[in-house]
Amino acid sequence: MTLHEPTLFVLLLLGYAMLGLQLVTASRRLFGGEALRGWGLGNSLMLAGYLFLLVDVVAPQPVWVVASNGLIVLGEFVFVAALQRFVDQAPPPRWLVMGGLACALSMAPLMMLATPTRMAIMSLIAAAPLAWGGWLVVRQWREAERSLRPVGAMLALVAATLLIRCVHAVLQPSAYVDMTQPNPVQTLVAVAAYVALLGAGFGFVLACTERASRSLERLASHDHLTGALNRQAAEPLLAQALRRARRGGGCVAFVLIDLDRFKQVNDRHGHVFGDEVLRRFAQTVRTRLRASDLLVRLGGEEFALVLPDSDAAGARRVLEQLRGDCREMGLHTEAGQACPVSFSAGIALSPQGRVDGEALYRAADGALYAAKRGGRDRAVLAGADETIPA
Ligand code: GH3
Ligand code: MG
Ligand code: MG
Repeated sequence: MTLHEPTLFVLLLLGYAMLGLQLVTASRRLFGGEALRGWGLGNSLMLAGYLFLLVDVVAPQPVWVVASNGLIVLGEFVFVAALQRFVDQAPPPRWLVMGGLACALSMAPLMMLATPTRMAIMSLIAAAPLAWGGWLVVRQWREAERSLRPVGAMLALVAATLLIRCVHAVLQPSAYVDMTQPNPVQTLVAVAAYVALLGAGFGFVLACTERASRSLERLASHDHLTGALNRQAAEPLLAQALRRARRGGGCVAFVLIDLDRFKQVNDRHGHVFGDEVLRRFAQTVRTRLRASDLLVRLGGEEFALVLPDSDAAGARRVLEQLRGDCREMGLHTEAGQACPVSFSAGIALSPQGRVDGEALYRAADGALYAAKRGGRDRAVLAGADETIPA
């Protein structure tokens, strides 16, 4: 198969133009608009670079070579800067921006070198930002959106072909003296660069969409103030924990927690401080829980804990630790006034998952009221007369 490079250029130019159009349209509404606009800018620079290359095919002139290579290298840096902005959720580092400009400008003095040497150095320069982009994805392999993985792979692939060209130009300089002669490595680089970078652009748009849907999912299932699960999201998870206990024979502990005299906190120190208390309380609870435990905000200053594989002793242990943590939380108002936080709790158990969610809730609610009536700052186990300090 012979590849007619000018035809390939035209097709790829159309591809970049299409992607550019999509990016401009999507960046206004899509999550990660900043990063998408960055990728769009990189896309325009690549498009301009390839346009110059097309002119070069028709009428070779050093100025076109410098302009096209400079724009393409700058475009690559802008792609990677957009990727870094997306991954780190912060503006890209200064060295990346300055490095991009320096590499793009270095294309002019490179024209003074013999073509094979120039090709080797230019290939290295062009490979550097793409390899960095590939590394950015590897660095965040688990945390980042899955759609970014092919993006990283595509950037790394282009970087690899550029490195092959660099080595080839050093080992076989004669293949780079007359650029009109067919050269399989050149064709490989051209195909990889055009196709993979275009594909990476589409992948990047998908990654933005994936992040948007992840954040919507989180918004729908978590309480905004405390980061705890909301009731709607917790119900199926509690049912699942009970099913597991039925199969595996464990005991699920369900705990209702209500902060004591919280209205007074708001009345004395204001709602903003009250919100901070709720946030800090949830944070403190989270550090005490195991990965399989759930923290749910039922509303106001009321929370629930779902503790799989926990009996009464286990639940009490967690609550005792929490009581200590709340004492040590050391919450102070802006005026420096100490604000101790205590809570009352009702514990209900579902041995072997035999007690369903609704019955657990009712039992824990009764126990919580008993704890309040008993003087607050304590926990009561449903079905037991015993009351212990929370
Ligand atoms: P008890 O010990 O009997 O539970 O008394 P309490 O004051 O904690 O209970 P009460 O139900 O009288 O008051 C709960 C307060 O919680 C009233 C409400 O203003 C406050 N509250 C509910 N949701 C929020 C919230 O999101 N932020 C803040 N700051 N306050 C909240
Ligand atoms: Mg309450
Ligand atoms: Mg309360």
